[in-house]
Amino acid sequence: MVKHPGKAVRKVVIAGGGTAGWMCAAWFSKILRDDIEEIVLVESEEIGTVGVGEATTPYIRVFNHHLGIDEDAFVRDTQGTFKLGIEFEDWGRLGHTYHHPFGANGREFGSLPFHAIWLRDVLERGGPSDLGLYNLQSVAARNGKFMRPQGQNSPLAGIEYAFHFDAGLYAMTLRHFAEARGVTRIEGRIETVELSGTGSISALLLNEARRIEGDLFIDCTGFRALLLGEALQTGFEDWSHWLPCDRAYAAPTARVGAPCPYTRSMAMAAGWQWRIPLQHRDGNGLVFASHFLPEAEALDIFLGNLLASRMSDPKLIRFKTGRRKVSWHKNCVAIGLAAGFLEPLESTSIMLIQNGIARLQYYFPDTGFDQADIDAYNRAMNREYEDIRDFLILHYHASERDDSEFWRYCRAMPVPESLAHRLDLFRSRGRIPEERGEQFRLNSWLAVMWGQGLRPRSADPLTLSLDGDGLGTWLSDIRDVIGKCSDIMPTHEDFILRHCRAAHLA
Ligand SMILES: Cc1cc2nc3c(=O)[nH]c(=O)nc-3n(C[C@H](O)[C@H](O)[C@H](O)COP(=O)(O)OP(=O)(O)OC[C@H]3O[C@@H](n4cnc5c(N)ncnc54)[C@H](O)[C@@H]3O)c2cc1C
Repeated sequence: MVKHPGKAVRKVVIAGGGTAGWMCAAWFSKILRDDIEEIVLVESEEIGTVGVGEATTPYIRVFNHHLGIDEDAFVRDTQGTFKLGIEFEDWGRLGHTYHHPFGANGREFGSLPFHAIWLRDVLERGGPSDLGLYNLQSVAARNGKFMRPQGQNSPLAGIEYAFHFDAGLYAMTLRHFAEARGVTRIEGRIETVELSGTGSISALLLNEARRIEGDLFIDCTGFRALLLGEALQTGFEDWSHWLPCDRAYAAPTARVGAPCPYTRSMAMAAGWQWRIPLQHRDGNGLVFASHFLPEAEALDIFLGNLLASRMSDPKLIRFKTGRRKVSWHKNCVAIGLAAGFLEPLESTSIMLIQNGIARLQYYFPDTGFDQADIDAYNRAMNREYEDIRDFLILHYHASERDDSEFWRYCRAMPVPESLAHRLDLFRSRGRIPEERGEQFRLNSWLAVMWGQGLRPRSADPLTLSLDGDGLGTWLSDIRDVIGKCSDIMPTHEDFILRHCRAAHLA
């Protein structure tokens, strides 16, 4: 008989009830309901949540699908809209706009990737350089169109999308879901984290002398990282020299016009501003680097850029970009802002929460807490943070802007070697390696590198023997098909009204 080094984890304690805490509670109450006896979530209404986080990536659909959440109901309940990508204004240079869309560009040409053919056409024949013309999500976004995938053998079958939503309402949806599956919510303030002689967490001590014991503790206490950071003292790796934005002002405003099916990201003199359409309001935020722009000036700029009346006072959020050196130590795993934060430019935080949850499930421990599992989890999470970090730095570093001290700093700063290597490869023959199973794949890197103004010196050598005129016709056919697909799609607004309008619009 195999002797097991630990007993089964019977009680999971989730500290914190923001998006991260309730995502964990919902997931584990459904997916591991036969394995875990008790799940307890402790949160403090008095402390509250960070209260932002409105844009997502397509991975969230997988999360909701596994929970069995009906998508139309979810969009309705969270005042949601659909997102086909992000529009970047003034990032590569002032007055220039590009899209980072979800989904594929064109299609493969034999064994060659689409972008190799397209680059050959642009660089050697002066063909259309607007990459967005080859991506249905991009064309549909520009035309204000949306629908879910339909049919087969057409770009319509491969439509990729995510959502904009009210994060507070999403957490509420997940809370109902988790409580219905037996999760116990405890309202209270964690005052002390009690450690055992081995340095593991034995209990959380709350106000009113309450003591919550557990086998596994999930730290979802946000930037405070009360368990993994404060109590277990795992260090923090600070990346603010690469990603210098460290503040955000956020405020909702009344909705203006039809909701666009994409996030708007407008580069400013020392940061950028987002505009996100929900059904009942627009979300706005200015992300900025306080070293280059004092808070008071940033507030004036933010308020001056709002298009409609504010629905609440602007909220100032201070943050430091980076991650904990490890996300899992002993019997504590940090998920969400407690594990790290990479600023919201590509809406990656909720995706990182989801991936943390999926990995924790994969490496789910017994009370022996095998170090091999912990190391594997940390390696994978660390790599993911680093990949996203590099992708974000690209937006700032590969810009032609030199109109402010902030942009001059970003252009001149030395970048991580991993990113420098990618930039070199692209500048050489337009190559974009996909070697590590990153979240942001070829099409994302291409959209941003090209959009920011990077240009390869020459095309992929394997394309040079191909007939240029033939390629031109092949590309033109793709543009036509994509244009026609967009034409038959309903507008984003009509789609919402027909399928998932929220109560206030009913
Ligand atoms: C400016 C900005 C914009 C963002 N935009 C996006 C976006 O577009 N897309 C995206 O994916 N993400 C975005 N994020 C990130 C997103 O907001 C977070 O990932 C998400 O909200 C999860 O936060 P959290 O649950 O980890 O932490 P929080 O929301 O801070 O929750 C922490 C929880 O811990 C509890 N807590 C803390 N201390 C105690 C204590 N002592 N006792 C008891 N309870 C305690 C709190 O009450 C709360 O319930 C953004 C973040 C910022 C700062």
